[in-house]
Amino acid sequence: MSARMNGKAIIISAPSGAGKTTIVKHLLKRIPELEFSISSTSRMIRGEETDGKDYYFVSSEQFRKDIGDDRFVEWQEVYPGSFYGTRKQEVERIWNAGHAVIFEVDVVGGVNLKTYFGDAALSIFIKPPSAETLEKRLRGRGTETEEALTKRIGKATFELGFVDRFDTVIINDDLRRACDEAYQLVTDFLIRQ
Ligand code: 5GP
Repeated sequence: MSARMNGKAIIISAPSGAGKTTIVKHLLKRIPELEFSISSTSRMIRGEETDGKDYYFVSSEQFRKDIGDDRFVEWQEVYPGSFYGTRKQEVERIWNAGHAVIFEVDVVGGVNLKTYFGDAALSIFIKPPSAETLEKRLRGRGTETEEALTKRIGKATFELGFVDRFDTVIINDDLRRACDEAYQLVTDFLIRQ
């Protein structure tokens, strides 16, 4: 791809469990011009995660201080007590490397990022085929308590209401097809803009 990547952004949002992580990984593997925006979070690190790769894990105090110092492009209290956000510095780091940035954020965060970046961004909503499939996928991960799961399912239902605020929607009924579709949309956007 020969177009300029600096200044461009891809936003991928979905209710938790809709398969967005798999799609983002697929895009990163196939499009070397993309670089993942590592969010900061105040939640606890999970088993397989690495600080500085999956997230920058910070204390709630640090997170609040960064909000006060206006360091974020966007931030959300995604779950009560758990903050997530993208630091301005992270976007600069990626653009300075000559890459387009790809965000994997919750739905409200995705709407806010699109407002912030405007035409420089393509926002994609990944939709699960049904509420039942979503619940099955979330349970299938087996990494969380029943209480955490109930919270995630409630939030996912709320998030489905924001679908119209995105540039485009991919229905993830078949993961392979959804990955192909995402690849096509993203490469078209990066070349065109
Ligand atoms: P998890 O705890 O499962 O890693 O992430 C929970 C949710 O927070 C996911 O929907 C994830 O995409 C979202 N998320 C991750 N980083 C950010 C961010 O910087 N901003 C917002 N708004 N949401 C984020």
